[in-house]
Amino acid sequence: MYQQQNQTQKLLKYLPDINDVVEGIQDFHLAIFLIQGTYFEISKRLTQIQFIFNRIPPNHNIKYKRIGQAYLLLLFLQFTKYLYNFIQKINNENIKDQVNKERNITTNESNDKFTQCLICYDNSTNVTCTPCGHLFCWDCIMQQINLKQQCPICRSDCQAQQLIQLYNYN
Ligand SMILES: [Zn+2]
Ligand SMILES: [Zn+2]
Repeated sequence: MYQQQNQTQKLLKYLPDINDVVEGIQDFHLAIFLIQGTYFEISKRLTQIQFIFNRIPPNHNIKYKRIGQAYLLLLFLQFTKYLYNFIQKINNENIKDQVNKERNITTNESNDKFTQCLICYDNSTNVTCTPCGHLFCWDCIMQQINLKQQCPICRSDCQAQQLIQLYNYN
């Protein structure tokens, strides 16, 4: 449901401006008018649309017709370009979403499921942090500190009372 809403929002974001749509219709109408020589007003075209293709006035200038055809072609190209950009944007957006989703999955996995102890290289039990910021199992680091009072990774000083067990970490 949420995803569907998201998709709709995304589409709405890329929908053309209403002014552009009106302008496009007007341009299209003008092109048809130049070709057909009929219905200069849009309202007339809308009400008598069925006659467009069978009524060409006898004195309609061939030059206007050519201009109209060229104009129509131009509009068609513009529309194609717009459509292409639209699809491109949607595609880019989808790729971005996909990448974000994958990134979320990997970070969630590493945060929720696995914190490697740097001594036993297994998943830490009772994750414990040294003052230097390295993470170990409580038992692993305690054993190490009893032998030598320093972090086994970076060798900075570390006392047993400085160790912090991260109760709310996993
Ligand atoms: Zn360990
Ligand atoms: Zn360290």
